[in-house]
Amino acid sequence: VQTESAGSQTSIKVIVRLRPQNQNEMQSNHKTVVKVVDDKMLIFDPKEEQNPFFYHGVAQKGRDLLKKQNKELQFIFDKIFDVTSDNNDVFEGSTKDLICNLLDGYNCSVFAYGATGAGKTHTMLGNGDDPGITYRTVAELFSEIEKQSEQREFNLGVTYLEIYNENVQDLLHKSGPLHLRDDGRCGVIVAGLKIITIQNAEELLTLLAKGNKNRTQHPTDANEESSRSHAVFQVYINITNRLDGQVRQVKLSMIDLAGSERASATGCKGARFKEGANINKSLLALGNCINKLADGAKHITYRDSKLTRLLKDSLGGNCQTVMIANITSSSFSYEDTYNTLRYANRAKKI
Ligand code: ADP
Ligand code: MG
Repeated sequence: VQTESAGSQTSIKVIVRLRPQNQNEMQSNHKTVVKVVDDKMLIFDPKEEQNPFFYHGVAQKGRDLLKKQNKELQFIFDKIFDVTSDNNDVFEGSTKDLICNLLDGYNCSVFAYGATGAGKTHTMLGNGDDPGITYRTVAELFSEIEKQSEQREFNLGVTYLEIYNENVQDLLHKSGPLHLRDDGRCGVIVAGLKIITIQNAEELLTLLAKGNKNRTQHPTDANEESSRSHAVFQVYINITNRLDGQVRQVKLSMIDLAGSERASATGCKGARFKEGANINKSLLALGNCINKLADGAKHITYRDSKLTRLLKDSLGGNCQTVMIANITSSSFSYEDTYNTLRYANRAKKI
C-alpha cells in the first residue's frame, strides 16, 4: 500500500508467516484451520473436504454435531510464508528490500505480531542454526554500507529496550524505568537510553543475546509463561556525504511485540490482568496508527501508548513499515489466528 499523506510517503507491507505445527498439535486430533492457496492468498477455516465426522475411518472426538458452519474466509496479503519457509526466505521476501530505502532516508520499522507461541521470536531472533531477520537485516545493511563507503561515511549505533506494563527499560544496560521525552527537533527520545556503537553484524549477535537475557520473560523459554513485553531493537545510522559534508540520520526499528492473545483468554487476575490490559492497549494503539496511515489520514494519534509514542517518527512521515503476522494452523489456536489475521488485514486496508 502506498499512500501520500501530508506530503510524505508511507508504505506498509503486511506479511503472514505460518509456522509448522509442533508435536503436541500434530498428535492431538485438532484439525488444520489455515489453507495456504498461494504466496498471497490463504483461506481461514476452510470447508472440510473429508467426511466431517470420520477421518481415515476413525470417528473424531470432540466433534460438535451442531457446530457452526466453517467461516471459509479468504485473505490476501502482500506475501504469505508457508511452513516450509525458513528465516532466510522470510528475510529475502520482507526486510531485505528495506535497506536501500533506509539508506535513501526512509525510517523503517518491522513488527512481529501474533499470539504467544505463534513464532514472533523465532522470526525476529531465530536461533544459532537459523538466525532471525534482525541479524540478517543488519548483516545486509553492513554489506550495503561497504559498497557505498567511497561516497558516504556511516556511523551505526544500536539500542535495545523493552516496554513492559508501559514501563521502558534498557535491555543492554541495567537501568531504572526510562522516560520518553518530546525533544522538539529530534522527536521523541528515551532519556538515558544507551546507544552502543557497532562495527559489524557479529557484534550485534552478542548484544542481542545479552539483551534477551535481560527481558522480563526470557523470550526463548518454551514454558507456558507468555512473553508479556515488547522488545524494541533500533539501529541509528548517521550518514555523512563525503562530497558536501551533509549529515542525515535514519533509523531502523525491529520489534518483537508482546503476545496478542486476550487478557481474558489467559484467565488471569491482578498483576497479570494489568499486563494483559496494557498489552492490548498498546497493540490497539499501534493498529489504529497503522490503519490510519494506510488510509492516508492526516491526523494520527501517537500518544495513546508508549510504543506508538516511541515509534512516531518510524511510522508516519517518510517511513516504510513491514508487519509480519505470525500464525499456526492448528484449530487449537482458532481464535488467536482469526484475530491475528483480522488485525493484519486491517493494517493493509486502503
Ligand atoms: P512467540 O515468540 O510468538 O511466542 P516463538 O517464536 O517462541 O513464539 O515460537 C514458539 C515455538 O515454536 C518455539 O519453540 C519456536 O522455536 C517454534 N517455532 C516458531 N516458528 C517456527 C518455524 N517457522 N519453524 C520451526 N519452529 C518454529
Ligand atoms: Mg516470543
